Amino acid sequence: MDCTYCGCAVEAHDPVYLSTTPDGDPASQFCNYGCLAAHVDAADLATGTACNWSPAE
Ligand SMILES: [Zn+2]
Repeated sequence: MDCTYCGCAVEAHDPVYLSTTPDGDPASQFCNYGCLAAHVDAADLATGTACNWSPAE
């Protein structure tokens, strides 16, 4: 499969798979955590969610 972020074949690296359900098929896959983190940043997935955790508390 191709990396969701960069389009490379994930099998050539240390793949990370994401699924929206515990037993579901992977919805997204990435070469490694670097591509996953880059995708999260690019898609702004870490902000605007229901998670209100704050490092200040
Ligand atoms: Zn990648």
